Amino acid sequence: MTEPTDPYDTHTSRPAVTVIGLGPMGRAMTRTLLGHGHPVTVWNRTPSKADDLVAHGAVRATTVHDALAAGELVILSLTDYDAVYATLTPATAALPGHTLVNLSSDTPDRAREAARWAAAHGARHLTGGVQVPPSGIGQPGSSTFYSGPEDAYQAHRNTLATLTDTDYRGADPGLAALYYQMQMDIFWTSMLAYLHALALGDAHGITPEEFLPYASSTMASLPGFAAFYTPRISAGHHPGDVDTLAMGTASVRHILRTTHDAGVNSALPTAVLDHFAHGITAGHARDSFTSLVEHLKHRTP
Ligand code: NDP
Repeated sequence: MTEPTDPYDTHTSRPAVTVIGLGPMGRAMTRTLLGHGHPVTVWNRTPSKADDLVAHGAVRATTVHDALAAGELVILSLTDYDAVYATLTPATAALPGHTLVNLSSDTPDRAREAARWAAAHGARHLTGGVQVPPSGIGQPGSSTFYSGPEDAYQAHRNTLATLTDTDYRGADPGLAALYYQMQMDIFWTSMLAYLHALALGDAHGITPEEFLPYASSTMASLPGFAAFYTPRISAGHHPGDVDTLAMGTASVRHILRTTHDAGVNSALPTAVLDHFAHGITAGHARDSFTSLVEHLKHRTP
């Protein structure tokens, strides 16, 4: 038997949820929540994006005010925090008593600022950082960082767990955004390196398909390196017993030369070499390349 989808139905066993923002992520979340029997009210700046969701049981709110009135729990899935303010500022009178689960990406400082803004308007703000693409919503193995008031997190944990596993990082509203940005730091830089390697291969007629097993093998080796180096980095100990910065610098020079020879864009390996050269200049040639972390801890001059 299907559960009722009327958000005003007090007999439903699943809490009502309002989803504001129906990009690919908000749409995936709405479908998943509906699939788990939650009454879902949706609002989107471009109303037509709600059409198919309404056909599957969502309730379309015609105003943000109406969307907020539908329930205490509000999921925000907007491009960034500017979009959050643009959406909620006209409806601040309806904010008191709500929990805003803000799954829009932005910086830790902006998350802290948004938490203060929400509190000033009588709402609680939980910051979220979703670590999967829309296809991962509702799938095992996916996870989202949360931070903010722990009681708000605990109160909605079960509902949020229908979307992805939940990983509460602490009371500071900036933490979820910070962990998310740290993950994205690795993701985009690594994926750009992957694309650079493909460009290098393309210059020599190697297809992405031919290179895929080798790219995958290198990427799969990285957790082992991270696990090995983590305690050393943590201790500020960078012995050159298994690698030296001098060796690493020679290796990066080879990549750069191979890049130049292929006539491929060299900006990325040049930037990598700049970091390595800085470490050499600072006297770390005989230390591990992990010594670069000390130089990275300081603001760019
Ligand atoms: P999109 O940018 O595609 O869509 C987000 C929504 O923001 C749309 O509904 C859009 O409305 C709305 N929006 C943008 N600007 C405004 C504005 N000024 N006023 C009102 N509404 C606005 O994002 P996604 O759905 O892909 O992602 C949502 C969030 O989740 C983002 O912060 C993203 O970084 C994060 N995220 C996304 C992932 C992904 O793979 N997609 C992965 C992990 C996190 P309209 O339809 O009218 O344009």
